[in-house]
Formats: sequence, structure tokens, C-alpha cells
Amino acid sequence: MTSTQRPHYTLPRLYIPESLGPDSKIDLPQSQAHYLSKVMRLKPGSAVRVFNGQDGEWLSKIVEIGKRDVLIDVVKKLRPASSTPDIWVLFAPVKKSRNDFIVEKATELGASYIQPVVTKRTTNPRIKTDRMHLQSIEAAEQTERMNIPEIGEPVKLQDVLKKWDPERALIFADEAGEGKSALATFREIKAPCAILIGPEGGFDPQERTDLLALEFVKPVSLGPRILRADTAVAATLALWQATSGDWNN
Ligand code: SAH
Repeated sequence: MTSTQRPHYTLPRLYIPESLGPDSKIDLPQSQAHYLSKVMRLKPGSAVRVFNGQDGEWLSKIVEIGKRDVLIDVVKKLRPASSTPDIWVLFAPVKKSRNDFIVEKATELGASYIQPVVTKRTTNPRIKTDRMHLQSIEAAEQTERMNIPEIGEPVKLQDVLKKWDPERALIFADEAGEGKSALATFREIKAPCAILIGPEGGFDPQERTDLLALEFVKPVSLGPRILRADTAVAATLALWQATSGDWNN
């Protein structure tokens, strides 16, 4: 891909919640003002891109810029809104830095919904969903995504299973290695999917038995090596995107 095919791709890209249309003037919050003025050292007249998940991506010009405030003028639409494929990630929260990695990679790899799930061996059940939201925004900005994944509040595994819509396949990454290969499973399943990745200590035997008893649960193996939870999230999502998602066009 050359820069002439993507002429605006070098411009800073920011997510803002406000609605976007021609000639709207928008005040950016302090964190974005700091980034544009101190990190990027932009001046009045500099161009930036903004998106909000609904109205597409817009070319904008900086009207005023200071350490705390930036006023932009929205000029013209560069790309229409688009959604990501319907793929959910359910993961048992691990250490803070690895949770950040999971949210970042799940966003880059196009997950539409990210849900922390509390299992018996989950070591960090009080994961901060506002931090997850910020991480997902940052990842969406840099990965050229047009929307932000939805983030669910942490829920206990048993409650997730009780309320599950059986029309959605729950792809259970089972480190016990008895499941089919994830690749073969994704090639077969045509229903919408969610992937479930366990904590560092793995699933407890009772949880595993409960999962395997449910018809919508499809146990899969990710090969002969045990992966860390964050690696397992990225590997499973990549396989799903390649077989059933938007890498498959
Ligand atoms: N401590 C556990 C491993 C947990 S790895 C043990 O030694 O058994 C964290 C999670 O990643 C697992 O719960 C599982 O969901 C997923 N995972 C890691 N490697 C996997 C593999 N080879 N196949 C399927 N799932 C895997």
C-alpha cells in the first residue's frame, strides 16, 4: 500500500464521542489537547482525522491549539462508517499489563465485544472496565478501525453460561487438548461465535465438565504447546478472522 493510495494515513487520528458533520466545531478534551500540542507539536491550520464510530472518519483542521484546549473544524468525510465482524472475546482477567495487551490485540484483530469472565482460578476479578475502554480507544485509533469494541462488565462464568444465547457458538479454548483444532472448528461453524480463554491457572475441572456438557460450547485445541492467555486470545482471533471474518474476502 503506497501513501498515494492512502493519502491521509499519516495524519493523527482521534476518537471523539461527539457527532460529526461538515462545519462542526469541536473542543477536544485535555488529554487529546496535550497529545496534539506537546507530543505532535501541531499548530493552527494542521490537519487531523477524527471518527466516532457512527459518522465515519472526517478530515479536520485545527483552529486553536493550547496545552489544555484544542478547537477543531470538521471539514470533509474521508471514509464512511463501517462495522467489524460479529466476533466476541471472553477472557478471564490476568495481570494488568497482560489485560491491557489482550484488549489492545482484541481491538486490533477486530473483536466486536470484549467481556471479562470471572472463573474459579481468576486472579484479578476486579479488572477496571474504564481502563479497558481507554485501551480499546487507543488501539482503535492506531489500527484505523472505524468503531470501538463494546466492553462488558466482569461476570462470573456460571452466570455467563446461564444467560447464553445458544444461537451463538462459544468456542472454548481447552488446554487439555482434547478438542478439535480451532482451524477445523472455525471452518465448520457458520453461527456467530464467541471465544473463551481461561486464566493462567487454566479452568478448574468442574468448570471444564460444566462447559463440555453444553451443546453451544465447542472445545478447541490451539496446538501442542500451552499458550499464555494473551497469546491464546490473539491466536484464536487471527484464526477466526482468516477463516470466517474479514481476512477472508
Ligand atoms: N496453567 C494452565 C494453562 C492456562 S493457559 C495449564 O498449565 O494447563 C491460559 C488459557 O489459554 C487456557 O485456559 C486456555 O483457554 C488457553 N490455552 C492455552 N494454550 C492452549 C492450547 N494449546 N489449546 C487450547 N487452549 C489453550
